[in-house]
Amino acid sequence: MKIAFIGLGNMGGGMAANLAKAGHDVRAFDLSEAALTAAEAKGCAPFTSASEACAGVDAVVSMLPNGGIVKAVYTNDVIGQAPAGAVLIDCSTIDVATARDVSAAAAEAGYPMVDAPVSGGIAAADAGTLTFMVGGTQEGFTRAEEVLKHMGKAVIHAGDAGNGQAAKICNNMLLAIHMIGTAEAFAMAQKLGLDPQTFYDISSVSSGQCWSMTSYCPVPGVGPTTPADNGYQGGFATALMLKDLKLAMEAAETAGMEPRIGATAKALYETFDAAGNGGRDFSAIITEYD
Ligand code: NAD
Repeated sequence: MKIAFIGLGNMGGGMAANLAKAGHDVRAFDLSEAALTAAEAKGCAPFTSASEACAGVDAVVSMLPNGGIVKAVYTNDVIGQAPAGAVLIDCSTIDVATARDVSAAAAEAGYPMVDAPVSGGIAAADAGTLTFMVGGTQEGFTRAEEVLKHMGKAVIHAGDAGNGQAAKICNNMLLAIHMIGTAEAFAMAQKLGLDPQTFYDISSVSSGQCWSMTSYCPVPGVGPTTPADNGYQGGFATALMLKDLKLAMEAAETAGMEPRIGATAKALYETFDAAGNGGRDFSAIITEYD
């Protein structure tokens, strides 16, 4: 398949490389010369503009920073440049409203389009083990799945356009909440005189168990190896968690919903980020209880 790939950063670089490894003809574009050179070394063909990369393709995949950029790239460089009928797949994490607007514009011009944000970080992008949550028509989903299966371990249809983004931000809001809860419980257990390993041994097989505890424990030396064991480097940056929480709060407002604990999680991550912790893994929020 001929596939244009736009946005070859931390995530997109590994994803595009996996498509090339699977034997696809990957036509890459990024504003960054360094990202483009790295993609070329991993088997992608570099192009000097998104519209040139889109010529004659069967599919377009994008992995970009935000909704404004996604809208501009699709409006100016993809719709009308890629052949009509090519499947358009945006994997960026963006707001639900923009995802729906861009999908509607694409559909009007004759392109099936899906929003397909991911769960999993840079390591999963490199390893091809991402989970994709896909919003769009059945036709869009079926066609996108043929492309996405080379970059992930699971591709799930979440419903109509925008529902992939809705699933992503609800999932990440829950993740932020249970990470803060896990951090708070460990901090309190220690202040009450419990050894953190002992608390882990009890809680990980009791009703307080959750992913943030058993797969991503914020306490160094407890549970599996996580960013906590590496000085909170790598993993999922606090700034990206905050981005997703902001998107979640915006979406909640448009849906007329008041997520009380989600709003508290956003406020806590905002304070943590503003104190210069944006580049640290989001589990480092436990250090606020030191
Ligand atoms: P990144 O900043 O490393 O990569 C974004 C790339 O897009 C950069 O290389 C940049 O040069 C390029 N770009 C920006 N504007 C462009 C344009 N107009 N045309 C072409 N290229 C352009 O970011 P990332 O970490 O790869 O994240 C990408 C998306 O994935 C974001 O929406 C992010 O929220 C989401 N995401 C990231 C992670 C993670 O752990 N990093 C996890 C899940 C989801």
